[in-house]
Amino acid sequence: MTAPRIGLGYDIHRLVEGRPLILGGVKIDHHTGLLGHSDGDVVLHAITDALLGAAGLGDIGEHFPDTDPKFKDADSTVLLADVLAKVNAAGYTIVNIDINIHAERPKLKPHKPAIRESVAALLKLDPSAVNIKAKTNEGLGPIGIGHGIACTTAVMLNPA
Ligand code: MG
Repeated sequence: MTAPRIGLGYDIHRLVEGRPLILGGVKIDHHTGLLGHSDGDVVLHAITDALLGAAGLGDIGEHFPDTDPKFKDADSTVLLADVLAKVNAAGYTIVNIDINIHAERPKLKPHKPAIRESVAALLKLDPSAVNIKAKTNEGLGPIGIGHGIACTTAVMLNPA
């Protein structure tokens, strides 16, 4: 527990009518939103998995099984806070976090500052430790034709 540790997170959810679009804890005005057992926040789910991976604590499905009704429509900010506490209890603090959001629509450029602030606040970090990159999929595949939004995340932890 003396060396820095890296973790990788990935998540994807389907975009459907009648659901709110929430990315990194920020509600974004859009005609479709992400379907999921919880609130479908792909960004927070990818971060949660990256944190668990870096700390060697497994994955989000082990901690919050989607077969458990307790986690239906769960607020992803609550799940993230729980995992952050576990990571801290395991003796680690976050150095920085890098986030790719893969979405054809809506255009995320105007929302990047709010998502950065939100993620930093949720992780109790300075915003300079959080980076958001918004990527389209160049029209390719299910993300490119707007069927879903995905997120990939890398996080670095240091021994506290
Ligand atoms: Mg998910």
